[in-house]
Amino acid sequence: MKNKDIISQAEQYILHTYNRYQIALDKGEGVYLYDAEGKKYLDFAAGIAVFALGYQDKEYNDALKEQIDKLIHTSNLYYNQPAAEAAEKVVKAAGMDKVFFTNSGTEAIEGAIKVARKYAYLKDGSTDHEIIAMNHSFHGRSMGALSVTGNPHYQEAFKPLIGGIRFADFNDLDSVRAELTEKTCAILLEPVQGEGGIYPADQEFLDGVKAICREKDILLIFDEIQCGMGRTGEMFAWQHYGVQPDVMTCAKALGCGIAVGAFVLNEKVAKASLVPGDHGTTYGGNPLACAAVSKVFDIFENRRIVEHVREISAYLEEKLDLLVDKYDFIRARRGKGLMQGLVVEGRPVGEIVNRALDNGLIVITAASDVLRLVPPLVIEKEHVDEMLEKLEQSF
Ligand SMILES: *Cc1c(COP(=O)(O)O)cnc(C)c1O
Repeated sequence: MKNKDIISQAEQYILHTYNRYQIALDKGEGVYLYDAEGKKYLDFAAGIAVFALGYQDKEYNDALKEQIDKLIHTSNLYYNQPAAEAAEKVVKAAGMDKVFFTNSGTEAIEGAIKVARKYAYLKDGSTDHEIIAMNHSFHGRSMGALSVTGNPHYQEAFKPLIGGIRFADFNDLDSVRAELTEKTCAILLEPVQGEGGIYPADQEFLDGVKAICREKDILLIFDEIQCGMGRTGEMFAWQHYGVQPDVMTCAKALGCGIAVGAFVLNEKVAKASLVPGDHGTTYGGNPLACAAVSKVFDIFENRRIVEHVREISAYLEEKLDLLVDKYDFIRARRGKGLMQGLVVEGRPVGEIVNRALDNGLIVITAASDVLRLVPPLVIEKEHVDEMLEKLEQSF
């Protein structure tokens, strides 16, 4: 089948909620993808920061195949070993206490919102608590997650959203203080904003937010869905800052391609929030998803993936900074580790992305003016060099 046949079939039957790039991807190998006509692309998007280990990793694939042949699903009415193992690995990596597995990042955010409300409810019995979220954040598209996503354009047509949400400016502590009320039960933020344009948090901001939360017994919730799982050069981005949240959400690279998310709680919150009957999911934490999570953590440890990210991202940053110097229309580089953005001014960033596709390079955008680079975490220097060559061709 040709790309165009697949595209026209898809456009006939799939609800048009995405303006997709005009290629149909067919298979992956290492850090390369191939379209339906066999054209090869260097992948610097990793399915939006998901496929951290590259495609066709034998150890990962074998673990999944073995689990498929054993048991894929049981429901949460029973225990299963992959879930127990995956839970231990997530909790220990975060130095936290308990985890709840979901099917997506969005659902992890929904869970975190419920945790915050329940924690506050148990303290004072009232049902009008507020959450402070950030402008330019992204947390998902369901009604709860959309309600805490600081992008009016995404929200407008779907109002009324859930109540009790206030928005502050990221990296502006005074603006957070201005939104605090007696009813505030949580502050939610991404340690490195992703969709909003790749903005890392400042140390003082996270320190300040943490201090507010501690003083007022408000929950600090970090959305690590995009910036977590080694992407920034620490397992979780908050580990750069030494600021541990009360609740953390994960997804994207957590299962490296299998749909799975999680929210993770510290002991204080785990002991005083959700109890049986409060929350559930049919699929969440099923043996197949958890076999993936478990294997991902093993591979991260055995192959020292996080250390590799630190090394290779230093090289990538150095090279990207040269582009900022060389081209006037590239105004700045922002990011941490293998989560990088180039700020493009004076020409549409989408055009560069399309030309990159022509040249066999997959990159994506963030916000309206940022070229986003979130490659598989296993890229090597030669892939950085190849990316730069193809990107410069596309300028
Ligand atoms: C992708 C993303 C989400 C939503 O995750 P889904 O798996 O698409 O539901 C939430 N928060 C952040 C920071 C994300 O990048």
